[in-house]
Amino acid sequence: MRIVALAGGIGGARFLRGLLAAVGPQDEITVIGNTGDDIHLYGLKVCPDLDTVMYTLGGGIHEEQGWGRADETWSIKAEMKAYGVGPEWFGLGDRDFATHLVRSQMLTAGYSLSQVTEALCVRWNPGVRLLPMSDDRVETHVRITDEQGTRAVHFQEYWVRLHAAVDAEAIIPVGADTAKPAPGVLEALAEADVILFPPSNPVVSIGTILAVPGIREAVAAAPAPVVGLSPIIGGAPVRGMADKVLAAVGVEATAEAVALNYGPDLIDGWLVDTADEHAVAAVEAAGIACRAVPLLMTDVEATAEMARTALALAEQVRHGS
Ligand code: GDP
Ligand code: CA
Repeated sequence: MRIVALAGGIGGARFLRGLLAAVGPQDEITVIGNTGDDIHLYGLKVCPDLDTVMYTLGGGIHEEQGWGRADETWSIKAEMKAYGVGPEWFGLGDRDFATHLVRSQMLTAGYSLSQVTEALCVRWNPGVRLLPMSDDRVETHVRITDEQGTRAVHFQEYWVRLHAAVDAEAIIPVGADTAKPAPGVLEALAEADVILFPPSNPVVSIGTILAVPGIREAVAAAPAPVVGLSPIIGGAPVRGMADKVLAAVGVEATAEAVALNYGPDLIDGWLVDTADEHAVAAVEAAGIACRAVPLLMTDVEATAEMARTALALAEQVRHGS
């Protein structure tokens, strides 16, 4: 079976670990990763979501934190601080720096982000084919109004420095309108047997991937069933501040509203948590097959069970039952 999953960072990566545990060795998983969170710091290109997927599946992730490297040290950051050079609010550890150095060195030498990602994955051996959504530069910005007035800040500044404490007025994936899908992305979608939306952020992870011209169309046109899992349980994100960015695009932070926002043209099936069983009827009425099952990724086995249910729902949709 050829499975294609769109993925952000932590939610995507944890789901993929469960998916890998659920499938057999003959199944092929292609991951289309969000690069709208990318940021240039100290002259280096940092790809937080691609790295979270790579480290999580490759066994290098800091488990409790969910991002960055295990057993990290922070000498470089302290040295930068001694020079008065920030940003202090963005955590790049010493081990993590090596990844960004290799990536930036290869990009400077003329390799594409896809080629660089493939090269980094030789070390991490994540068990999936990890493709950036695009080789072109896309950076999500957020419009806010605070005491400094109305302005756009980089998504990382909004999320990490400001902790999404001010309202997001608009989400702008700068560069997405002219970006091209990375090599292999459209082919993978067209040839997939199943397409999955993990419980990643629907706006700044999945939404950004879909904003690359051609990708939304390819998902909608793909012969494969498309099944998503809700990142919202009981009217709130399980982790993070997805409600803030959902509000910016006029979508309620409920499992049902997120499904309807994707819509039946895009997704064929949707899983909500058992806490949201009441949402099933409305999602089905909109033409999306829906089931309520436990959706907390408490451990790999619980997550694998979520993945099995998503694959089973895809089969049911495929056979029109
Ligand atoms: P990010 O790029 O690191 O923010 O990660 P993603 O976009 O891939 O995923 C973020 C989303 O994962 C958040 O909106 C969370 O609500 C969701 N999430 C995190 N843990 C869980 C979980 O255990 N179950 C479900 N259903 N969603 C989760
Ligand atoms: Ca992210």
